Amino acid sequence: MKLILIGFMGSGKSSVGRTLAKKLQLELVELDRLVLKSSGRKSIKEIFERDGETRFRELEIAQAKKLKNKNQAVIATGGGVVLNRIILDWLRPGSQVIWLKAGFNTITARLKNDFTRPLFKNQAAAHKLFSFRQPLYRRYADTIIETDNLTIDQVVEQIRQKIKICLIIGDPVSHSLSPLMHNAAYKALEIGHGFVFLASQVKPAELKTTIKMVRVVGVRGLTCTIPHKTAVIPLLDRLDPVAEKIGAVNTVVNDHGQLIGYNTDWLGAITALEKVTKLKNKSAAVFGAGGAARAIVFGLLKQGAKVTVFNRSVEKAWSLSREAGCQCGFSNNLEPIKTMDIIINATSVGMVPQINQSLVPKELIRPHQVVLDVVYAPHQTKLLKDATAQGAKIVPGLDMLLYQGTAQFELYTGRRAPVSAMRRVLIKYLQNQL
Ligand code: NAP
Repeated sequence: MKLILIGFMGSGKSSVGRTLAKKLQLELVELDRLVLKSSGRKSIKEIFERDGETRFRELEIAQAKKLKNKNQAVIATGGGVVLNRIILDWLRPGSQVIWLKAGFNTITARLKNDFTRPLFKNQAAAHKLFSFRQPLYRRYADTIIETDNLTIDQVVEQIRQKIKICLIIGDPVSHSLSPLMHNAAYKALEIGHGFVFLASQVKPAELKTTIKMVRVVGVRGLTCTIPHKTAVIPLLDRLDPVAEKIGAVNTVVNDHGQLIGYNTDWLGAITALEKVTKLKNKSAAVFGAGGAARAIVFGLLKQGAKVTVFNRSVEKAWSLSREAGCQCGFSNNLEPIKTMDIIINATSVGMVPQINQSLVPKELIRPHQVVLDVVYAPHQTKLLKDATAQGAKIVPGLDMLLYQGTAQFELYTGRRAPVSAMRRVLIKYLQNQL
């Protein structure tokens, strides 16, 4: 999680940054301090006087570039950080930018005894600069806090109340499309200045402290991806019964301090399937016995379908089918899938870069069938192309991704998800990628 404080000199970025970082148990990074350290000068004033403002900005850009991959921090910036777009372009990805806004009179009163501010020596010039920068701060701000008449603690409290943070954790996490999808949804519903969806790489050894941080900060929603879906369970207060049965949590809702675990992967697959077919009494072949397969198998059984599991490692297929109470198939005899109603690939086979692979022989797919592939990159996998060619109905992995995301969105925000806006952004992203 990365929070970036911007604002004119004297707006309280350093003091608020210190208190905020302490409260959120995050590291405080002061950009001006890093610039000063890299300059070899004794003060910012000296850099301006001896090297000039252009040199100062160059150093600022270099430091911002170094902070590009900095996560889990509060970054207090210098007042002129908005002057060069490139600085915030380095800092901003995966962050929330907070503008600490103060009136010129407030700032003048705060700085009246501070002679170290090189740009505040001349009041008229300072006012001109102040007016020039206001629209720039507004342009970059995700959240605006009016700080006039507020104490530092009150500003920090406002930040905590105003920002509703949702977070995805995983290792790795940079490939995740959740921030894209959720932030597009916030924007579509114009709740973008309240909610923000961030991504944080969390290693297994960091999971416990991350959950503590989720409680302290009051993170509203926590999405868990590989490898945390099972490990997070003992750290939560309660589980939704389906998540308990599946034994994996991809969604954690912070309900007034109570962390409740859900699984929306099964809902994503089932909602996507139910758009094209009823599930009760239908026969389904599920390829895979990993996390995605588990969620889908339990989801299908919950809806009254009859399931047969096929998996490369037979013992895992046996184990899942025994636990779930369904059939286990043999990967060396796939003939029976011809007569089934639904075929699901719940493995990573067919994903980029192995886009020409499929576990399901084309000739076994029949026109009466519905075929779901959990793989969403590429959008049209080999399996889905084969299924289309055989006249079957297809359900792309993108639909599962979308509906697990819409279910999550509704749990986190209590609002109905803007499905088309979320779908649009996913399709656009995947089309540009491939
Ligand atoms: P996982 O727990 O690691 O399980 C992987 C499964 O794929 C296992 O059953 C594994 O079989 C099988 N597998 C992998 N490579 C194979 C190969 N070459 N041949 C045959 N089987 C192979 O992973 P997961 O969490 O279930 O994720 C599986 C896929 O689902 C990933 O591509 C993931 O991105 C996707 N997914 C999509 C969504 C969505 O919303 N669309 C949601 C969740 C996951 P063994 O047991 O024999 O190793």
